[in-house]
Amino acid sequence: MLGSVLLAASRSDSIRRVVSAAPVTRPVVDRYIAGERLDQAVAAIRSLTDQGLEVTVDHLGEDVTDRAEALRARDAYLALAEALAEGGLGERAEMSVKLSAFGQALPGGDDIAYANVLPVVEAAAEAGTTVTLDMEDHTTVDSTLAILAKLRERFPATGAVLQSCLYRTEDDCRALAGEGSRVRLVKGAYKEPASVAHQDKHEVDRAYVRCLRILMSGKGYPMVASHDPRMVALAQELARRAGRKPGEYEFQMLYGIRGAEQRRLAAEGHRMRVYVPYGTDWYGYFMRRLAERPANLLFFLRSLTTR
Ligand code: FAD
Repeated sequence: MLGSVLLAASRSDSIRRVVSAAPVTRPVVDRYIAGERLDQAVAAIRSLTDQGLEVTVDHLGEDVTDRAEALRARDAYLALAEALAEGGLGERAEMSVKLSAFGQALPGGDDIAYANVLPVVEAAAEAGTTVTLDMEDHTTVDSTLAILAKLRERFPATGAVLQSCLYRTEDDCRALAGEGSRVRLVKGAYKEPASVAHQDKHEVDRAYVRCLRILMSGKGYPMVASHDPRMVALAQELARRAGRKPGEYEFQMLYGIRGAEQRRLAAEGHRMRVYVPYGTDWYGYFMRRLAERPANLLFFLRSLTTR
């Protein structure tokens, strides 16, 4: 219930203005965001890679409403790719992009988003790294998977994200479980209607397990993105049964969440990738993180009242 309210708030401009302007918001935001500037993101990436972790970097932004804004998102990613190349970070750091930041929701959005993301994928390849297309709400899935298919014709290592909350996802997992396919499996961070998605958290978890089985027994490269200890343990067991070695799948977690567990998995020899968001447009991302864990909201509210 509280989660639904927060997810609705994540798309409200008036609540965005209030939350963004409150001075006490900052310390809570800093837990989840590596900084507002590229140099801060690079410092965070270096600190994580020095600890044996890998990284996927997100320049924050989504739901752009004009072409100029979409071009600015593209340019921010081109600057990021350059910084990764210059810093020799391409081997350990890839990029995650949201196509709605590249113009996907504009009229003719599929073509605009593809035209904007293609140079980013090219720049990533030049920097020795890859791009994963984040998945947004269910209305974007067909478009995102179609753009993914086009990108993979030239850049087969471009990754996708599939959300176990959606009924369609087991089929999508089967379709994307082939050779060379990189799939990040998540539970799903958006408020979705019952017509397309499981509403019960246990159903989402059960679907996650089914999807994990499909991906682990397939020929692709599963990216297990969850903080849930049960999913992390099950992934290891399924990988073992499928004869996969540690480098043949990976774990992913978000910056600021379960850091000790991230380091523990890396120290055990697993490939552990941290999703590192940076930039000024942190509101939607931040609210989705609050929605996932009511305790975070209580921490946030307490900091509002104790100042
Ligand atoms: P949950 O059952 O939600 O949580 C399990 C445990 O993890 C909790 O009990 C708690 O201990 C801890 N935890 C979870 N969330 C938090 C939090 N916010 N703060 C503190 N502790 C927490 N979703 C999309 O829809 N599209 C994407 O492209 C996408 N990309 C992602 C990339 C990565 C690398 C990760 C890790 C997640 C991504 N997500 C994405 C979010 C995902 O869908 C979930 O909303 C989120 O990961 C919470 O689900 P969970 O699997 O961690 O399990």
